[in-house]
Amino acid sequence: MYKLIIDLLNNFLNYIHIPDTPLNPDVFQGVFVKKLSNQNIIKEKRRISANNTILKVNQTHIDVTGEQAKLFFFEGLSNTTTPPQSIDIDLYDNNLSYLCAINNPLSRLSSDGNTYFFRHSIDVPPYLSNWDLTLHSSAYKKYGHKGTQVQINIPDSKESFTLLQRYAFQDDALVMLRYDYLRYLAILIPSELCNHLYSITDTHGSHNINFAVLNPSYNSALAIQLQHQIISKDVMYDDAKTIALQNTLNNTPNAGTDIERIVKTRVSQGSFRRLLLLERHHCNLCNISTTSVLRASHIKEWSESSREERIDANNGLLLCANHDALFDRHLISFNPDTGNICISESIDNEQRKALSISESTQLSMGECMKSYMRIHYKKFIDKENQ
Ligand SMILES: [Zn+2]
Repeated sequence: MYKLIIDLLNNFLNYIHIPDTPLNPDVFQGVFVKKLSNQNIIKEKRRISANNTILKVNQTHIDVTGEQAKLFFFEGLSNTTTPPQSIDIDLYDNNLSYLCAINNPLSRLSSDGNTYFFRHSIDVPPYLSNWDLTLHSSAYKKYGHKGTQVQINIPDSKESFTLLQRYAFQDDALVMLRYDYLRYLAILIPSELCNHLYSITDTHGSHNINFAVLNPSYNSALAIQLQHQIISKDVMYDDAKTIALQNTLNNTPNAGTDIERIVKTRVSQGSFRRLLLLERHHCNLCNISTTSVLRASHIKEWSESSREERIDANNGLLLCANHDALFDRHLISFNPDTGNICISESIDNEQRKALSISESTQLSMGECMKSYMRIHYKKFIDKENQ
């Protein structure tokens, strides 16, 4: 994912005729994509009146907030208030020059029908319309009562920031590449060229305005934490859609066993599975790691779980197709106290061998998983005793 985004950025730089200095993925620690919103861009300063006069110029920074920003810019520091720090964000050379130069469209309509700022060089001070412009801005790292906030501003060069804002529109991407904790490089990509980028960063079915991904070789634990953030939201979204699907199907006469099948597919193959795949790389019971045959199995059945339980990774096993089927049908379970496997009497020794299960198979479980397993285990015992 990280390399994919760097490739997209290089395609963009190539497109705007800066092909000689491609970004080297190895020198950066990660990428943060900020999809600029109406709030970042328009406000009073962005709006032009019917006679093309600027109404106000007063915005001084762009905020980046949210859990992912906190992890990306602060590496997961707590919410406690700390002294603000300044960091440098260099805007890529010639990036704004390109945006100044593109003629089509000269101005753009917002979704509410208002015309916002022209992208050509109207009102740009002469010393800023220089094509060789290199801008240096700073990001102001700040902790506030509402959590972490990163303010991207240019305290020493108000005009530079004004220029950045002038050429930025709603839905453009401000991409920040991290050299290290204090140094960043920013590239502004016009929304017309963002389709591919947003197909990656717009997750959980909504406009995701903040998206962070780390160079996996930099800090793999933090990289997983960031991915976890993103996928957790996907899981919640997916789960809500699954419930809606089940409700619809429940109300459809003659839907029959299709209900279970369709919902089951979503539950075992959807984002919950991606969540489990983040940290587990093979079947919980055997060495099968072929991703396409691995399924997510809820320990406490999905239909009986609460919202929180359904999206809790502790309530999931990643199992190959065979082991998933056995576990789902309560033909195997695990003693929640010892982790020892329990195999149904109905499976003979020959089949046990064929299915790669034996009495010595064990599952290591944390306390949370054990409490879910207790419920599964009880069903297994009840079924065996029937
Ligand atoms: Zn397996």
